[in-house]
Parts: sequence; C-alpha cells; structure tokens
Amino acid sequence: MNQKQLQQEIQRRKTFAIISHPDAGKTTLTEKLLLLGGAIRTAGSVKSRKSEKFATSDWMELEKQRGISVTSSVMQFTYQDYKINILDTPGHQDFSEDTYRTLMAVDSVVMIIDVAKGVEPQTIKLFKVCKDRGIPIFTFINKLDRQGKEPLELFEELEEVLGIETYPINYPIGMGQSFRGVYDRMDHKIEWYNEKRERQTQVLTEDDDLTEILKGVADEGTIHQLEEDLMLLDEAGNPFDFEAVKQGKQTPVFFGSAVSSFGVPTFLEHYLKMAPYPQARETSIGKVTPDTEQFSGFVFKIQANMNPAHRDRIAFLRICSGKFERGMTVWLDRTKKSVKLAQPQQFFADSREIIDDAYPGDIVGLYDPGFYQIGDSVCESKETFNYGELPQFPPEHFAKVRAKNAMKQKHFLKGVNQLAQEGAIQIYRTPYEETILGVVGQLQFDVFVYRMKAEYGVDLDMQRMPHQIAKWITKPEDADELRKSSNNLVVLDHQERPVIIFENDFSLRWFEQKHPDIELVDSSFSLR
Ligand code: GDP
Repeated sequence: MNQKQLQQEIQRRKTFAIISHPDAGKTTLTEKLLLLGGAIRTAGSVKSRKSEKFATSDWMELEKQRGISVTSSVMQFTYQDYKINILDTPGHQDFSEDTYRTLMAVDSVVMIIDVAKGVEPQTIKLFKVCKDRGIPIFTFINKLDRQGKEPLELFEELEEVLGIETYPINYPIGMGQSFRGVYDRMDHKIEWYNEKRERQTQVLTEDDDLTEILKGVADEGTIHQLEEDLMLLDEAGNPFDFEAVKQGKQTPVFFGSAVSSFGVPTFLEHYLKMAPYPQARETSIGKVTPDTEQFSGFVFKIQANMNPAHRDRIAFLRICSGKFERGMTVWLDRTKKSVKLAQPQQFFADSREIIDDAYPGDIVGLYDPGFYQIGDSVCESKETFNYGELPQFPPEHFAKVRAKNAMKQKHFLKGVNQLAQEGAIQIYRTPYEETILGVVGQLQFDVFVYRMKAEYGVDLDMQRMPHQIAKWITKPEDADELRKSSNNLVVLDHQERPVIIFENDFSLRWFEQKHPDIELVDSSFSLR
C-alpha cells in the first residue's frame, strides 16, 4: 500500500467515545448515529445496559451478557465517506477503570448533557480524564423536547463546573412543547421539523430575514427569544476558536433531541468536519505519526471470558500507525516476543467479524490466550517501542483482602499481582504488608472475587473499608515524613509509588490544610 492510500484511510477515520451520566441519552444517540450510517435498520437494536437487569453479584447472569457487551463495546460504521468508530463507555454497574481507559484510545469525545439536569457527577469524572488528555470534546445537549434549563444558563454551568469554554454551533428554536428545531450559527441554516416530523432545512442568504422565515414555524415568543439570545451570543459570547477546540479548551455545543432525531444529522455533519482524524502519539522513541509505514498499536482493554473451561479473552487493540493485516506477525514491546495476529475481529453494530485489514483509528479484537496486558504495545518492527503505560485512575472503593486459607498465600499473591497487572483492579500495600484493593466501580470487586476463585483457586476474606479517595503523592520523600508523623493511611501502589487514602472529602481537606506543601494528584497520569 502506498503512502497516499494510507493517508486517505487515516483521514477518513473518526474514533470517539460518548460520555455522559446514565440516562442522558447515550444509547439513544448511538443508535441514531448508527441508523444514519445505515449500520442498523431499526431502532431498539442497540442494547441499553440498563435492560440487563442483573444484580452486580450475580456473575453467571453477567457472563451470559458478555457476548452482547463485547460486540457493543466498539461499533464501526460508515457515513458519507467517513469510517466511524464509536467506543462504548459503560455506566452503571459496569463502570470501571475500563471506562476511563477507553478514553485513552479515542481521538475525541462527545459529551451528552440532559437539558433539564445539566452537568451531572459521572459526566464530571469522565470529562476530567478527557481534559487531562487534552482531546477535543463536543457537547450534545439532549432532550430539548422537554422543558429544561435555558441555553445561556447551561453554557455558564459548563464553563463554571467543567472549566471549558463553550461555543454553540447551533441554537434551539424553542424548548419542550414549543421545540421546533435548531438554528445553525455556522452555516446560517435552519433545520426544523414539521408536524409529520419530517426534517426540513433552509440556508439563509444575506437578504433572508430569520423572523419572517420562522413565522410559520414557531410562535412569536420563541422567535423573539431566539433572536435576542443569538444577538447576545454574537456580541458577548466566546468567538469560535478552532485551535482551542483541538486542545480541548473550547467545546462546540449542539442542541437536539436524540429520541426524535432532531438536530442529530446537523450534529454529525459538523462533528465529522471538525473532529480530528488519528494524530501522532507520544511513544518511548518520540512521536510516531499514524502514516508511519510500520504497523503499531496498544491494548487498552481486555475482556476476560469468565468461563474457566476455556480461558480465552479478547484484547482490544487501538491501531496507531501503519496498516494492520490479518495473519501478520508483530512484536510485543514488553516481552520482546513475536506473535501472529491470526483471528482479528472487528465489531459492527450487532456483530463481530473476522477482518483482513484495518487502519489507524480502528480497533481490532485479538484472541488472547493470556498473552497481553493492558497498556501493551505491539509493533511490526522488531525494534519495538511503546505508547507508554496507561495511567491509573482514582479508585473510589477500597477493601482489605487476604486468602481465607493461609496456605494459599502464594496463589493469592500471584493472582493479585496478575490481576493488577492486567488492570482488572488496583492493589496497594500497607506498611504492614496488608493488601488493599482499590476499584473505580463496585463490579470490579465481584469480578475479582470470582476470578481469584476460578483462576487461582483462592477463597478470599474481604473487608470493605470506609475510604473513598486515593491521591498520589508527587514527591516520595513527603511520604516518608507522613508515615512517621501522622496517622494517615499511606500505602504503595504496584509500582511502589506512594498513595494516600482518605475516608472522605472532609478528611482530604483537613489534610490539605495541615500540609499545604505536599502536592497530591488525582491519578498516576499526572506523575508521568
Ligand atoms: P443512557 O443511559 O445515557 O444510555 O440513556 P438512554 O439512551 O437509555 O436514554 C434514557 C432515557 O431517556 C430513555 O427512556 C430514552 O428514551 C430517553 N431519551 C433519550 N433521548 C431523549 C430525548 O431526546 N428526549 C426525551 N424526552 N427522552 C429521551
């Protein structure tokens, strides 16, 4: 394949994740995008995880669902000439470090905000990870068919709570009962829907009068409000700054109603024009650009099949450079061993298929007989390099664990270390050699207990702790001081980096007041 073809393939790829608080409309929007791309034919094909009503502890039930969650974790479809990869970031019980790590594999994100609820807790957490990475964030304000907060109020909330500038690309014409469509500020286009919910668009010329055109569409009050807001935005709003968008400092904002598709096509078209295609990434040998001839990528997620009879797993590989070909032999940077990529799978809306080739931005699923670890880099060239360790994210639930049977200590340590390396959990060691487990989502505890038993034959004693916050200490010498002088819980992560664990916000703030000189950070991200 020549360089030009490779570049063409790269430039038509858009790889993103949708982040939101549960119920904001992620499933619905995903489905509407897939419908637009012709990847599915009917609504209701994308499984909402909510409908999987299993108790978190009910592993066997969960296992049954795994077929679904594997296919829905990455979805590829084509729209116009674009190849689009949507990576799922599960919410609810499935929320785990995987959710965060997935954000390492995308080139941009779409953040959905419920117009009535505004910025919600889970959105804030996911947003922070994206902001730290400095990737472009596009905002879709959803459910405009319901009465919600005023647009201007929402911009203020986004700017204040998330600390990101906003630039509305389109603006709602009415809201709730009187919602008629959106006005596109970029293209000066009105998109409205008639009683039959048919989409109509009109591009305004210099001579067109918005009021006149909207007269037959919306009521007087709505038109008046729209004109006033648009004027205010033009005069006092942020100017559009594409550089700031690319750095994740300004978010283009769209309004719509996913359930009725209002505003979804406009959103997708602008998004595809503005969102970046795969870019160069930092590696151990400097920046590697996607059009580098040699294939390379990294594993950001491993989905273990819980069936102990055949321990196969799927490693999700994000392609970063070159062309991927089925059956090719690559080198794993961590072990310097070669591996043949024999049964690569790609994921479509409702199926997975063996594929022959793929390009930067694409995600392939590799059959994994226990070969890969999260964060592993693979390269076509024997002179390997890596895309860096994936960061650890702040866990929110903690438990002390040990083997029920002291004779099983060796197996226990082996399992704990392997599962921590794989990224299924985080482990910390106390000064008394106790093992503390930290997880982002509760479900990870269940996975851990199940796998320790199934794969290592160890029954666990697990004692939940009241702690909720972990902070990495940037200077290790600070930790030594703290261990001597205070009763804080100072532990080491699996790379021997000091971490301090707090029970709640109050104790964290108390600590910060007492030790203003000690720098604490949220994730191992900031230590890199
Ligand atoms: P998720 O949890 O973010 O995946 O949210 P879903 O897509 O499952 O949506 C949650 C609920 O909100 C469902 O009952 C949807 O039908 C509803 N919903 C989604 N989009 C809209 C919308 O634009 N307007 C209204 N009124 N409801 C919506």
